[in-house]
Amino acid sequence: MMRQYELVDRVRKYNPQTDEDLLNRAYVYAMRAHGQQKRASGDPYFTHPLEVAAILTEMKLDDATIVAAVLHDTIEDTGATRADIDTLFGPEIGRLVDGLTKLKKLDLVSKRAAQAENFRKLLLAIAEDVRVLLVKLADRLHNMRTLHYVSPEKRARIAEETLDIYAPLAGRMGMQNLRDELENLSFKYLMPEAFAMVSTRLEDLREKNHELIKTIENELTEELARRDIKADVRGRQKQPYSVWSKMERKSLAFEQLSDIFGFRVVVDNTDDCYRVIGVVHRKWPMVPGRFKDYVSTPKQNDYRSIHTTVVGPGRQRVELQVRTHEMHDIARHGIAAHALYKDGRDAPAPVLSHESNAYQWLKRTIDMLSEGSSPEEFLEHTRLELFHDQVFCFTPKGRLIALPRGATPIDFAYAVHTSVGNSAVGAKINGRLAPLLAPLDNGDEVEIVRAEGQTPPAAWESIAVTGKARAAIRRATRDAVRAQYAGLGRQIVLRAFERAGKKFSDDKLRPSLPRLARSTIDDVLAAVGRGEMFSGDVVKAVYPEFKEERKAQAPDRTDPGWFRMQKASGVQFKAPGASSDAQAVPIRGLHGDLPVAFAPNGAVPGDRIVGIMTPGQGITVYPIQSPALAAFDDQPERWLDVRWDVEDAQSLFPARIMVAAINEPGSLGAVASLIGEQGGNIDDVTFNKKSPDFREMIFDIQVFDLKHLNDILSRLRVLPMINSVERVIG
Ligand code: MN
Repeated sequence: MMRQYELVDRVRKYNPQTDEDLLNRAYVYAMRAHGQQKRASGDPYFTHPLEVAAILTEMKLDDATIVAAVLHDTIEDTGATRADIDTLFGPEIGRLVDGLTKLKKLDLVSKRAAQAENFRKLLLAIAEDVRVLLVKLADRLHNMRTLHYVSPEKRARIAEETLDIYAPLAGRMGMQNLRDELENLSFKYLMPEAFAMVSTRLEDLREKNHELIKTIENELTEELARRDIKADVRGRQKQPYSVWSKMERKSLAFEQLSDIFGFRVVVDNTDDCYRVIGVVHRKWPMVPGRFKDYVSTPKQNDYRSIHTTVVGPGRQRVELQVRTHEMHDIARHGIAAHALYKDGRDAPAPVLSHESNAYQWLKRTIDMLSEGSSPEEFLEHTRLELFHDQVFCFTPKGRLIALPRGATPIDFAYAVHTSVGNSAVGAKINGRLAPLLAPLDNGDEVEIVRAEGQTPPAAWESIAVTGKARAAIRRATRDAVRAQYAGLGRQIVLRAFERAGKKFSDDKLRPSLPRLARSTIDDVLAAVGRGEMFSGDVVKAVYPEFKEERKAQAPDRTDPGWFRMQKASGVQFKAPGASSDAQAVPIRGLHGDLPVAFAPNGAVPGDRIVGIMTPGQGITVYPIQSPALAAFDDQPERWLDVRWDVEDAQSLFPARIMVAAINEPGSLGAVASLIGEQGGNIDDVTFNKKSPDFREMIFDIQVFDLKHLNDILSRLRVLPMINSVERVIG
């Protein structure tokens, strides 16, 4: 196992300013946290984070990245918390370790190859900081290096995932070394025979060509030296996986591959790159169509080099890559190498393609370089600001849910399943209870608290940001409203049958459905509930011989016994403020789910109310003492029991009051300001009657409820200039 001082030495070698104390503390903390935990190999678990840190020291990364690597499995696998890490190592490292913990959850998510591209985007989105991604890739590399210890099934899954997801990601970040190693290891575990075959052939070839390679290296080095170009010329073979994929892609046998080895020429500056090309092309004929200048036009991942193929000694085709040391480092370590080259770039800033979103961050990275920040700042500010418009969250079982930014647990619930959305009553975000309206962040684990038999509040429709949630909420509220109508219709129908002295049951009604031109019983009941069909017609459909007696049985509403009588008849009239009675239709003011209108000078919450059904229009609500109700006395089937169901106390309701005041200056103002002070709104004032001594004023006002109205009335009565104050009910 790497010793504490070894880790510090490795870092100090490239970063003399390293915070040794920080590295030491991280080492001790992680060692203690992992304690006796073991890896599949039987080694102490702590060897793993140390090796990951060691891989990152090869890329010469900053202290925060190295410390995050040492700590990367502590939150997930030990008792450590984010708060502990923040306290001991500061919020920057806390954030990095937290990011790695979130990425670790991804290991549980099933990743089919078809989703690989999305999955890479997700990694980028969750990582938020490029250093998180670097640690993750190093983590994966070490796991791949030690893959032979895990079970064969797990091995295959991890190797496949590495090939599909992580190797291409490393490639896009320009980290060719990492990519090659990840690919070759995956290849070895996924296709052991093919790997063995390709590796053996490559080895044979290396021996066979050893002399030739040496010859070309020397010849080229001398040729360049004669022209005062200092160059490092190295012959190299292609990697097993890239040889294999070329064979697959082009359906070629190993023997048919012509460009298995090539040469890399590394020089001091860009000018020399072009001079090398001049020398080479004059010495050996170039193969047409193989010349590529990635120095003047870098690849999307910032790779720069000049490629050419020539017909070399012995008519052997020889591939050449010409680049500077800086380009070479970037080609091997990609984004990790940028930190080393903030100054002294000898080429214009690379041009990046805008076609691919996945490279936008790289462009910002390079912009950052030109702003001349320090290497540490450079890494710190390389936030991955990809996918601004999306968040990725998880179910407790690790299923990945992608949502638009601004999405809430409501959207999450509907994305999981419509039934989950409809029954949602609360949410836990990362284990803590949170409001259903809380916006979600990348990597949040969301658990929906459910209760069966719920109807989503209609207001959710405007809160939800996903179309799926909106449509489902609309459907659910529509269904709920329909069920409400059907329930109401059932009461009305029951009452009508009772009045007729007939028995009602669904079975009796069913044969009459065609006569009523409806296809289901619920349709009939809902139609009655909505006032589109009279209950008397339903009775007649079932008992065609029945003759309705429309004898006026007008309830005497001034008699308190009417209320009891209504109860006795099986239909309840709800007392004000009563709730949760399925039989009375809940009225939610003007913005509720039911087609409700209020009679002019109508009712305010707290008033005892009654609804009158008007076919095709729904319910009009009257205060029970309204004289207008007399008009409906002979149509008992139109009367409906309704109750207040005002959830938010902020809605205002219209009421009319009549004030008789002494005719003196300022009386109108006094009344108006008192109403205002009490929080009532004045809609309109009219002067009903004028006399020399007093005036009668009609105020149309808006109040919250009956108590509010009564408060205003009693305060008005106290005013000295007031003669009388009455509520007017139309
Ligand atoms: Mn790990």
